[in-house]
Amino acid sequence: MTETYKAYLPYDFIITFYENNTGFLNDNQLKILMYHELKHIGIGERGLKINPHDIEDFSDILDKYGLDWNNFGKELPDILGGD
Ligand SMILES: [Zn+2]
Repeated sequence: MTETYKAYLPYDFIITFYENNTGFLNDNQLKILMYHELKHIGIGERGLKINPHDIEDFSDILDKYGLDWNNFGKELPDILGGD
């Protein structure tokens, strides 16, 4: 929240879910969505901050090579068929 909004609403963060984005989700999906949004709340050197996503990729790459395919030293198959 910006300082201007905090003058009216005494909260550090407000999480808003829009029906047109979440209406198709079942209860357990909604719980994970809330968990996801809460993970955006972090604490930095200067206080509260918004954590960015720690992963951005394509689902087929993640399915085949794992969430950690780009970790240092990760052993992976040669997708170009080399040795
Ligand atoms: Zn997010």
